[in-house]
Amino acid sequence: MAEDAPKFIVDSNVGKLAKWLRMLGYDAAFFEGDDDAYMIDRALKESRVILTRDTQVMKRGVITSGRLKAILIDSDQPEPQVRQVIDTLHINFQSRPFTVCLECNSPLEKRGQEEVKERVPPYVFQTQQQYMECPVCHRIYWRGTHWQAMLRKLEQLTKQR
Ligand SMILES: [Zn+2]
Repeated sequence: MAEDAPKFIVDSNVGKLAKWLRMLGYDAAFFEGDDDAYMIDRALKESRVILTRDTQVMKRGVITSGRLKAILIDSDQPEPQVRQVIDTLHINFQSRPFTVCLECNSPLEKRGQEEVKERVPPYVFQTQQQYMECPVCHRIYWRGTHWQAMLRKLEQLTKQR
């Protein structure tokens, strides 16, 4: 499953998309530089789909020739932007939510309740059985109210189609 999932590089002009795609469980690197050549180079090396609002990027030979995939994002609002990516790549957005760290884009690992006991608030420990941890930044995720709110938002996104 992981091998088939597209990976992305998100241009700074559509930066919010990175967090959304991570929320959906996709590897979405954020490009902060201002030299498009670096972004294109990294996209080629790591087989990432470029997401951008920059029409100049779309004119690059490597993209017009189809060697590198890029999506020119229409909207300046994050929600229609996510929908455009989902629609364009026919992503099943429900297949892998919350498997990637929202902060640092690393794959999350499952943790049992006892393993995180000392590291989550007591009320969380008492109510949640399943946890995910980022092995890189050690942030712990659980299916709390924040998580549920995000899931609802994702569901709304696809209902609007
Ligand atoms: Zn992390």
